[in-house]
Amino acid sequence: MEEVKASNFIEDIINKDLANGKVTEIYTRFPPEPNGYLHIGHAKSLCLNFGIKQKYNGKCNLRFDDTNPVKEDEEYVESIKEDIKWLGFDWDKLLYASDYFQQMFDFAVKLIKKGKAFVCDMSAEEISKNRGTLVEPGKESPWRNRSVEENLDLFFRMKKGEFKDGEKVLRAKIDMASPNINMRDPVIYRIVRATHHNTGDKWCVYPMYDFAHPIEDAIEGITHSICTLEFEDHRPLYDWVVNECEFEQKPQQIEFARLNISNTVMSKRFLKRLVEEKFVEGWDDPRMPTICGIRRRGYPAEAVRDFCERIGVAKANSEVEMTYLESVVREHLNRDADRLMAVTNPIKVVLSNYEGSETLEIENNPQCEQKTLRQVTFSKELYIDGSDFMVSPPPKYHRLFKGGMVRLKGAYIIKCDDVVCDDQGNVKELVCSYLPESKSGCDNSGVKVKGVIQWVDANNYAELTLRRFKPMLNPEIDATDYIEKFDRQSMTLQKAFAEKAVCDAKVEDKFQFMRIGYFVKDKLSTPENAVFNEIVGLKDSFNK
Ligand code: ATP
Ligand code: MG
Repeated sequence: MEEVKASNFIEDIINKDLANGKVTEIYTRFPPEPNGYLHIGHAKSLCLNFGIKQKYNGKCNLRFDDTNPVKEDEEYVESIKEDIKWLGFDWDKLLYASDYFQQMFDFAVKLIKKGKAFVCDMSAEEISKNRGTLVEPGKESPWRNRSVEENLDLFFRMKKGEFKDGEKVLRAKIDMASPNINMRDPVIYRIVRATHHNTGDKWCVYPMYDFAHPIEDAIEGITHSICTLEFEDHRPLYDWVVNECEFEQKPQQIEFARLNISNTVMSKRFLKRLVEEKFVEGWDDPRMPTICGIRRRGYPAEAVRDFCERIGVAKANSEVEMTYLESVVREHLNRDADRLMAVTNPIKVVLSNYEGSETLEIENNPQCEQKTLRQVTFSKELYIDGSDFMVSPPPKYHRLFKGGMVRLKGAYIIKCDDVVCDDQGNVKELVCSYLPESKSGCDNSGVKVKGVIQWVDANNYAELTLRRFKPMLNPEIDATDYIEKFDRQSMTLQKAFAEKAVCDAKVEDKFQFMRIGYFVKDKLSTPENAVFNEIVGLKDSFNK
């Protein structure tokens, strides 16, 4: 496959900063808000931040951005940690933005003392109404020129809980005429009475993201604070906060384009709705674009990292085809997954001239340099896949029909002599004969057949349930509410028989079921019935 690797402009910046001595050690961070599970978009940010750590022998913190007490939850904290570890990354420090609430409060006090912040009595609506537009400047708040003493007094009383939620806010005093609306005296503290998952009821004033984030970065000594493009217009405010709080070591915000994937909605709010309204089995449903979902779907962590590397980082928003991700996953599985034989819609084959049984050795993975073999039993009664037999085949049909011959993978050539049907005319059994001289690896039969099909020993097999998938959102349905696009038929169940070896598989073990697709063992498996999720099909549909 073509390596399409965009040049990484972030590394260019880092290289320059190192060359001119601006920084000596590279420090990044990954700052998720614990208000949902991580998705494939987060994987891109993770690969970027932890990739830089690895490449530059630097550091990367995991910092939970928990400055909004209303939406956050401990359940998410645990899932985020697990997902990051699964992806193969390890953080240097594990931190919570809420650990800095006191320091942030102190910095706000510092700004007030410098005359750079004021308590404003306007409501959120009034503030928004007076903010101006892209072409018109905003109007200054009537409270903008309160004295330092009055501001200090009011801010401490806000903290003590003397005012109602929303009654007062603390605003940075910057420039209501700035062409950048973010610089028009932005709110930096608000009153919210809510129990915080970390600090409980200790605080009733909370910092806004734009104030909190640069402070968190600066305190931790982050050198390059990488975020998505929508924060580009916030960068002047980020720099303003760093400068006005008088941090010596100044972190640098760099924006990149977020990952969008065709026909995939990553919004946490939407994914949460799918879970809560039981459209899916949970956050880790194999159809979900969450990290735990794609893990359960069987995407190898290494393939996900490879995908993130190959799509590169850009400064312009774009969309990546889902088939490209699948194509990378397929490439990894083709290389790494052992092959196994399984049949769906089984048809019984009885070999009239074969007696007893034998054990054959079949190669696990022809792509693997180190050849390993597995044992597969063969006997008089076998099953083949229902799709490999036709009563009235079209011309040039290379699989089985009455009078036709095929090779059973790793075993013998068989010929179909007779077809036994039930009362309804359904095929019940194929009476076949095998060519004793045609054994794979030592074939002296002189017979050439074009078709090779998989099979299982009818006296020694395992029963499986295959879970086959289509995209969870039907691209054909045109709806603004994504929930209407949800395809209730996006998961279908199929029974299958497989080689007994499948019983040794552990949850998350991945296989190529020959001529069917790639599958992963699911946690719903029981000793009697193994459940396998379809990872990707065999055919690459990515249009290069
Ligand atoms: P959502 O809008 O779904 O709630 P978010 O951006 O608010 O997502 P955070 O938890 O704040 O989610 O994100 C943590 C980090 O992951 C941030 O640095 C954010 O920029 C990054 N990130 C989130 N979504 C994507 C994406 N689709 N592509 C790349 N990076 C992303
Ligand atoms: Mg966010």
